[in-house]
Amino acid sequence: MYVGSEMFEAVTDRERARQVFAMTVSRIEMETHSYCNRRCSYCPNVVGDRIGPNQFMPADILEKIYGGLEEINYDRYLILNYYNEPLADRSIIARISEARARLPNARIMIYSNGDYLDRAFIEELAERPRLSAHLHPPEARRPLHRPLCGQPDQ
Ligand code: SF4
Repeated sequence: MYVGSEMFEAVTDRERARQVFAMTVSRIEMETHSYCNRRCSYCPNVVGDRIGPNQFMPADILEKIYGGLEEINYDRYLILNYYNEPLADRSIIARISEARARLPNARIMIYSNGDYLDRAFIEELAERPRLSAHLHPPEARRPLHRPLCGQPDQ
């Protein structure tokens, strides 16, 4: 991992900022919506202001993120959830397709508790090119790596 003087001061040159970002950021996790259906005892998601109506990432924020990542042809990990359940809202299909269209070389992934999966949903996800989906059923805390299609995680 690169650690340089740019870590401690503002980088005002745009091209240098692109270079530093590309050297230092290899994993981005972002929630395109906020809701999770579970309340696992070991998860910080069970308390606080995260419990409530589902909220969606504003379109202008998504556009800003993708616009910046396109500048460097981002090709590292892009995880489309964090402390939410990505498959709780079917809009995740559009978000995955959007991410693939904007960042064709990114390693797009989701982590899901699997509660919403059925055959039709699995087939719909499997049609997304090079998507890796990890299932972590809450009763089994060790993540179960199960890529639905494309390249397995490395
Ligand atoms: S399913 Fe995942 S995100 Fe949701 S409460 Fe459980 S550990 Fe947290």
